[in-house]
Amino acid sequence: MAYVCTKCEEEVDLNPVEEKIICPYCSNRGVLKTRSDEAKTVTAR
Ligand SMILES: [Zn+2]
Repeated sequence: MAYVCTKCEEEVDLNPVEEKIICPYCSNRGVLKTRSDEAKTVTAR
């Protein structure tokens, strides 16, 4: 499960089962779920 910190925008790998969601980089407690769909690049012919 991939998350992105709302503060430093670093990609963090967290376990959704754990209640404590803290960014390991800046200790920010706000992360957003990232969908793999957004990472896909669609190439138009
Ligand atoms: Zn952060």
